Amino acid sequence: MKKLFFLPLVLSGFLFGQDYKSDSVAMRKIADHIMTKGEGYNDLYQLTKQVGHRLSGSEGYSKAVKWAEAKLKEAGADRVWLQPVKVPVWVRGEESLQTKTGNGTWQSIPMLSLGNSEGTNGKVVEAEVIVVRDFDEFDKLTDAQIKGKIVLFNYPMKQELIETGEAYGDAGRYRYGTASLVAKRGGRAVLVRSISTAPDDVPHTGAMSYDAAYPKIPAVAIGPKTADELQRLSAKQKIYAKLVSNCGMRDDQDSFSVIGEIAGTENGVIVVGGHLDSWDVGEGAQDDGAGVVQSIEVLRLFKQTGLKNKHTIRAVLFANEENGTRGGKAYADYVAKSSERHVFAIESDTGGYSPRGFGLNMDDAKIKQVQSWQPLFVPYGVYRIEKGYAGADINPLQKLNVPLAGLQPDSQRYFDLHHSHSDVFEAVNRRELLLGATVMAQLIYLIDNYWK
Ligand SMILES: [Zn+2]
Repeated sequence: MKKLFFLPLVLSGFLFGQDYKSDSVAMRKIADHIMTKGEGYNDLYQLTKQVGHRLSGSEGYSKAVKWAEAKLKEAGADRVWLQPVKVPVWVRGEESLQTKTGNGTWQSIPMLSLGNSEGTNGKVVEAEVIVVRDFDEFDKLTDAQIKGKIVLFNYPMKQELIETGEAYGDAGRYRYGTASLVAKRGGRAVLVRSISTAPDDVPHTGAMSYDAAYPKIPAVAIGPKTADELQRLSAKQKIYAKLVSNCGMRDDQDSFSVIGEIAGTENGVIVVGGHLDSWDVGEGAQDDGAGVVQSIEVLRLFKQTGLKNKHTIRAVLFANEENGTRGGKAYADYVAKSSERHVFAIESDTGGYSPRGFGLNMDDAKIKQVQSWQPLFVPYGVYRIEKGYAGADINPLQKLNVPLAGLQPDSQRYFDLHHSHSDVFEAVNRRELLLGATVMAQLIYLIDNYWK
């Protein structure tokens, strides 16, 4: 078995001038260290339970910056600094949604205003609800049917897509852009079915945006079960909703991404990152506390094991991914102006679940090189190394031709809790979290040594 396993390694290793036997030993040492001595799970406990959720501009985010700065120093970073970022500020405030059928009584239903949405300014918006499944059904309505109404888009995630990220992208269109479509035709508010894979009634928030040409009407997420129930009822009778909310945008604020690094012996920077901000519900444990503590873990690994990194290894904990991606843009602006050469960046922002692959956004020759390492990753559960999206925070580095990668963990559970009250520390498994940090450290080790 062993011989069969190593044969393709030796062959492809020969092509890239690499000694795979010693690399597999080094990768084993990285895994041993992180899986036995890794502190990421404890770090995540602190970030979620002592700091809590941390939307841009909130007190929670300021606390997170202080926590991350201290944590990176404690992890052994040679240099820690704060990168200034001007962030948008959105606040939720009190909110409620009630519905009833024509002759029924008002019932409160679980809801969350969508991020960046304007609210009702504390006033009650009461109107009939029109339920549509998708854009096609919406387009078939007349303006008279929409005017003065609240429109519910009950578009579910496609359960048949095995990679749930694809289904998220598909359903995301309904969260992001429907408010202005409804406003354009005289509607008063939009309700959207939460983008969730779970068979429950948990509402999930997330960013939306307005077309400036139309009034900014309120946009609210409701749970999948209620959305289906309203759809069912609407076939037989009229439905009404009563919405009160106080959310809205405030002035931009000065904020920071938090950066720590271990200097290398040669010129060049390797970035490992996640985003420090989260939504204002739950604890931002999987999104993206996991990516934050994994990035810190990678730094700690290189420090504690004395692996002599050639390139500078830099953990970047980005500000404002959720409702603006200003941290990622500010970092790319900094790289564009600096004399530093960035050789690689990897992001973890799809949860701390068992790693399954890497999505690569880089030229074909580099993709081939990373794919040649695939057999080395199989013992750690990573089998899918393909061209793909890397991550929202590092994506702006693409225009600077920085090779990018995204950690791709198992995606089956992430959208059960993403952007909701359910995204808490208890939903994270220690081994899965640390295994994600392990394979990122291993990939960085290989790139640090062999990048062409
Ligand atoms: Zn995220």
